[in-house]
Amino acid sequence: MDTILSSRLTEVATFVPKGSKLLDVGSDHAYLPIALIQSGHISSAIAGEVAQGPYDSAVKNVAEYGLSDKIEVRLANGLAAFQQNDGVTTITICGMGGRLIADILEAGKEKLAQVERLILQPNNREDDLRTWLVQNHFTIVTEKIMTENRKFYEILVAEHGEEKLTTTELRFGKHLLAEKSEVFLAKWAREIGKLEVALSQIPESNDGDRSAISQKIKTIQEVLDGSGK
Ligand code: SAM
Repeated sequence: MDTILSSRLTEVATFVPKGSKLLDVGSDHAYLPIALIQSGHISSAIAGEVAQGPYDSAVKNVAEYGLSDKIEVRLANGLAAFQQNDGVTTITICGMGGRLIADILEAGKEKLAQVERLILQPNNREDDLRTWLVQNHFTIVTEKIMTENRKFYEILVAEHGEEKLTTTELRFGKHLLAEKSEVFLAKWAREIGKLEVALSQIPESNDGDRSAISQKIKTIQEVLDGSGK
């Protein structure tokens, strides 16, 4: 039986070091650990899930794929899903808001010392997540932007280390800015389009809101043109 990973999770999987002891937080279907074990990339994992329904579905999938001896599904809130003696080296947290991911990391941050790599895929507020990472002694070693079903997704890969990021780097991603891929340009062009629609709906008399939105458009445009800092 083959697992069907979305392109998004397939991309996330490429950043999991071979032989990792993986914890996947918010593992509602457990497909990521299942696929990584099936491919022989890792040999064991913990799938953590806070909600009963998704937990039940992860347990069911793991059993159906015959991997109950290799993937332990735990009903737990965030990083409460593991203890130091589990030897977790890589944590994936995907498909949630950036603030929620940062809150999950914050709530269990004292347990992260032994963890070598975080692979995070926020659905929004990537800037908040980058801010949490740099404030908590993580460095973003690589980033990826991709698109699936007309949605844009950013993947942040972080390891222990010190780094300072500018406001622009926190918002747009240092590595993504350096690369300025087609997908990156398309994401921010779409954002400008949305802001232009919003601007067109604000009455001329509302100077405050109009200039705030115009400034946002200008900031993005400068980044796209290469003149932003
Ligand atoms: N990670 C999968 C993916 O990327 O496709 C599932 C994403 S799903 C949208 C988010 C899952 O995270 C839900 O099943 C939700 O119950 C779970 N979740 C949310 N907060 C959590 C927390 N604090 N601890 C563990 N799981 C959580």
